[in-house]
Amino acid sequence: RLEIRNLVRVFDGQRVVDDVSLTIRAGQVTCLLGPSGCGKSTTLRMIAGVEMQDSGEIHVDGKLICDTMFRVPPERREIGLMFQDFALFPHLSVAGNVAFGLKGSREEKQVRVEELLARVSLSRHIDSYPHQLSGGEQQRVALARALAPRPRIMLMDEPFSGLDNRLRDGIRDDTLALLKEEDAAVLLVTHEPEEAMRMADEIALMRDGRIVQQGAPYNVYTRPVDKAAVAFFSDIN
Ligand code: ATP
Ligand code: MG
Repeated sequence: RLEIRNLVRVFDGQRVVDDVSLTIRAGQVTCLLGPSGCGKSTTLRMIAGVEMQDSGEIHVDGKLICDTMFRVPPERREIGLMFQDFALFPHLSVAGNVAFGLKGSREEKQVRVEELLARVSLSRHIDSYPHQLSGGEQQRVALARALAPRPRIMLMDEPFSGLDNRLRDGIRDDTLALLKEEDAAVLLVTHEPEEAMRMADEIALMRDGRIVQQGAPYNVYTRPVDKAAVAFFSDIN
């Protein structure tokens, strides 16, 4: 369970993230949805620990991992990360990428790598290198790599936006199924209402650094909080 409380980040005198609070339970997907520049990635980076907040707290499974006095370093937060560009290590094979963050014996790692690659239907590419894979295949390697250490929390920043339109819906559904199996608490950042409607258990609608509305996708869509929310959702096709 991920809990963030009253998170604030100021850049150049502006509150880019302005008092954001969220709770995400294991097995749940929350979409942080909002237009470009509203503060989504900054929020995600603070949770990951690569950006420091000006105030507010972050808790994982009831334990404080970050406030203004105390800070668990990013690599010890048990958080899986996935970004738009996948950022695979070009010099490592698919197996090497997926094994990268794993601890334990060689055999244990091997078992986990094979299990995940089978799960994302990439077993036959285990010895391939990233440049030999399609965009969709790279996305699945990135997903397997992020989930390999069994993170309690999974943070995803526009993880489908680099993909071909034709593939995207299928990959979204497959990704969601795997996230549910692994039982992580997922925070998915997107600026596309359609993606949030398809994937979220809960939508947090963000604008100008603030969460202006939060709830089940159906409720947020059918009862928009104001005219700007209506306009934002009207792009959906
Ligand atoms: P997008 O959908 O385009 O990715 P976003 O919601 O993820 O947008 P952020 O990247 O969080 O937006 O940025 C929010 C605001 O904070 C923007 O106005 C951005 O210019 C500003 N910002 C982000 N990082 C910094 C920084 N390191 N220094 C100064 N300003 C920053
Ligand atoms: Mg962003």
